Amino acid sequence: MALIVQKYGGTSVGTVEKIEGVAQKVIATVEQGNQVIVVVSAMSGETNRLIELAKQIDDCPAPREYDVLVSTGEQVTIALLSMAIMKFGHKAKSYTGAQVNIRTDNAYSKARIIDIDEARVRADLEAGNIIVVAGFQGMDEQGNITTLGRGGSDTTAVAMAAALKAEECQIYTDVDGVYTTDPRVVPNARRLEKITFEEMLEMASLGSKVLQIRAVEFAGKYGVPLRVLHSTEDGPGTLISYDNEGETMEDAVISGIAFNRDEAELTITGVPDQPGIAYQILGPIGEANVEVDMIIQNVGADGCTDFTFTVHRTDYQKALEILEKTSQKLGAREVSGDATIVKISLVGVGMRSHAGIASTMFKTLADDSINIRMISTSEIKISVVVDEKYTELAVRALHKAFDLEEKPAA
Ligand code: ADP
Ligand code: ASP
Ligand code: MG
Repeated sequence: MALIVQKYGGTSVGTVEKIEGVAQKVIATVEQGNQVIVVVSAMSGETNRLIELAKQIDDCPAPREYDVLVSTGEQVTIALLSMAIMKFGHKAKSYTGAQVNIRTDNAYSKARIIDIDEARVRADLEAGNIIVVAGFQGMDEQGNITTLGRGGSDTTAVAMAAALKAEECQIYTDVDGVYTTDPRVVPNARRLEKITFEEMLEMASLGSKVLQIRAVEFAGKYGVPLRVLHSTEDGPGTLISYDNEGETMEDAVISGIAFNRDEAELTITGVPDQPGIAYQILGPIGEANVEVDMIIQNVGADGCTDFTFTVHRTDYQKALEILEKTSQKLGAREVSGDATIVKISLVGVGMRSHAGIASTMFKTLADDSINIRMISTSEIKISVVVDEKYTELAVRALHKAFDLEEKPAA
C-alpha cells in the first residue's frame, strides 16, 4: 500500500462544489489501494481578504497576530473537506498545523519547518482515515501559530511527504503541469514531462509561482518525488526529479522562461570610486532587513562611479529613503528609482555548454526595441531587467526565439 500526499491549492477548493470534487478525487486514490494525506490551501481569495482586513486596522500589524489571522483560511477548508469525504462514506480527520505538530522557527510570516512529529498521523492512517492537513501553518517552540509565506501550502505538503516517506507528493492546481513559461502569458507554452529540481528551483526563485521555492528546496533535499497536476483534468502532469534520463528534455538547452514583477530598481550616481563604497551603500540596506537581488557597479570615471541594484517591490520606499540618507552622507550626485520593472530570466541546465544563448536573447529584445536595463548571468540562467510594460511582448518573443512552443501534432 503506497502513501500519497496530495495538495490542492486555493482555486481547486474555491467553492463547496469544488471541495466535494476534491473529496471524490481523494477517495478515488484511496480506492485504488493507497493511503492519502491531503493538504489544502484556503479557498481562493480568502488569504488576501484576511490580509486586507488586517490592513484596515494597521498597515504594519503585530506579526504574531497577523499569523493567527491569516492561518484561519486553511482551518475552514480542512473542516469542509473532511465533512465532504465523510458524506461520501469514508473516514476522515482534519488537523491544523499545530495539531499535526509541524514545528517551525519563530519567523512569523516566513517561518521555516524544523520538524514534524508524524506518529499521530501514522496511527490515524493505519486506522483507515484520510488525513486532511491545513497547509501554510505551523507552531513555534513556544506554541505560537506561525505561517510559512505565500504559497506555503506547497511546502507543508512536501514536508509531510518527507516526514512520512510518501511515495509521491502531488500538487494539484489550476494548470496541468509546469510549463516552459506561465501559460497565462504565453498561451502556446509547452507542458514539460519532467524537470530537474535544480531547474525548478531556479524557475521558482526567478518568479514562476507555480510552486513555492521552499517546497522545491525541501523536495530536492529529502528526495521527495514531486508532481504538478491539474485538479480536475486527468493527465500525467510534470514530474520534478533528479534527472531527465530518457526524456527529450535531455537535449533542451533552455527549459523555461521565468519572470518576476515583484522587484524595484534603485540607482545612486556620482559616488566616490573608492574601497568600501559598496559596503557604505548596501550595508544600511541590509541592516534594515531589505534583501538585495541584482547589483551593478559601473566602471569609475573621474574618481566617481554609479551603482544600481534591485530590491523587493514592497521594500522600495524603505530602500529609497535609506539610499537618500546615504547619498547625503557621501555627497553623491543623484538618487533615482523605478518600481515598474520586470526581471525576465532564461533557465536551463543545458545552457552551461552552449555559447550564443545570451546574444540570441539580447538580439530578440533589440528586434522589438526593448531596452535592457540590467543583466545578470549564472551557469544555468540569464536574467535581464526591462520596463514592466514590455513583460508580455518580451516573454512571448523569447519563447518563440528559443523554440519553446507547443508544436502541433504531426
Ligand atoms: P494554487 O492556488 O493551486 O497554489 P498558484 O496560483 O499558486 O496555484 O500556481 C498556479 C499558477 O502558476 C498557474 O495558474 C500559472 O498562471 C502560474 N505559473 C507561473 N509560471 C508557471 C509555469 N512555468 N508553469 C505553470 N504555471 C505557471
Ligand atoms: N493560503 C496561502 C496563500 O494564499 C497559502 C497557499 O495557498 O499556499 O498564500
Ligand atoms: Mg500556489
